Amino acid sequence: MCAKGKSVTMSFHLLAKARKLTAFSCLLSRAFSHRPSFGIAFDIDGVVLLGNSPVGGSPGALRKLYAADGTLKIPYVFLTNGGGYPEAKRAFELSQLLGINVSPSQVLQGHSPFKQLVKRFGNDLIVAVGKGEPAAVMSEYGFKYVLSIDEYASCFENIDPLAPYKKWTTKLCAAQNAKFNDSVPRNDVFSERVQAAFVVSDPVDWSRDIQVLCDILTTGGLPGRNVGPQPNIYFANDDLEYQTKFPSERLGLGAFRIALESIFNRIHSHSLEYTCFGKPHPSVFKNAEIVLQKLVGSLYGDFYDIDHDNASKFETVYMIGDNPAVDIKGAQQTGHPWFSILTRTGVFKGKENHDKFSADLVVDTVEEAVDYILEKESAS
Ligand SMILES: [Mg+2]
Repeated sequence: MCAKGKSVTMSFHLLAKARKLTAFSCLLSRAFSHRPSFGIAFDIDGVVLLGNSPVGGSPGALRKLYAADGTLKIPYVFLTNGGGYPEAKRAFELSQLLGINVSPSQVLQGHSPFKQLVKRFGNDLIVAVGKGEPAAVMSEYGFKYVLSIDEYASCFENIDPLAPYKKWTTKLCAAQNAKFNDSVPRNDVFSERVQAAFVVSDPVDWSRDIQVLCDILTTGGLPGRNVGPQPNIYFANDDLEYQTKFPSERLGLGAFRIALESIFNRIHSHSLEYTCFGKPHPSVFKNAEIVLQKLVGSLYGDFYDIDHDNASKFETVYMIGDNPAVDIKGAQQTGHPWFSILTRTGVFKGKENHDKFSADLVVDTVEEAVDYILEKESAS
């Protein structure tokens, strides 16, 4: 949870409501002779993938969770703080990279909880920030009046004084975006206040995004105008660092949040108010339990009984992660039935366990973790 931000107060009740059976449910094999008593949550970056390359024997490890005919045998989800693309697109990409059949319902991203805020901001002007397709993510969640920060900034002449020195041009991209004019008339940005900013994924152009967000946040949502009450700002996660193919960790969304907050607090009389989602918040883990139960419940036709309060009928849910302060801390804070497994393919590279957030088990790779789980569960 963020030091100065509000805690995530929204429950995941909406996500727990009964939903239609998905096509995926029929893929879940009737391989269980009894209801499975365990599920698995995989972090992605540093555990399953490094950049776009599989790591730690992940394709082989994940295939062990499927029957020979390709139907799912063991309930699992991807529980990542990353994002930037709609869940369906990410599921397709993971399927391609890992050679398995991943359902969109198995992909829980840092920004997935943003969909809970549709009731509040669904018809308001909002700005979506980050790499990938942040506006498409929010549109898919049901927000009707959304602009990416590229599109929004392109409406304001001279809002970024460094733009002439940048070798890329977001203005051109925004102008070519056919959806731009359809979703939000250009003139609206000069009269409609931005009600909320959503940092969906890692921002690409930090200097422009910090400038424009400070403009939005200090003026009450109308850059260049008078000071007004701070609009809401939400971050998909608060990860300070994450692992890519580069040998040392890279600065993440949490680093961007610190930069924005520090600058905002120097130029504005009030401290920045914000909300962070993502691991290690226990609500994220509780929601993963519900989704895992739905995977199992859909097979047995009883998932309509699942709700937030009695979601977990699992004896064990395994969290396989590479970041002690995110994956392991989150599983520990959530408590039963979570069992944390720390891999050495990402942020954590120590020989022994982590000092502060010690995992229940430390292994080298995700494949080792899956082998441990399958052996333990088949023996029980
Ligand atoms: Mg990770």
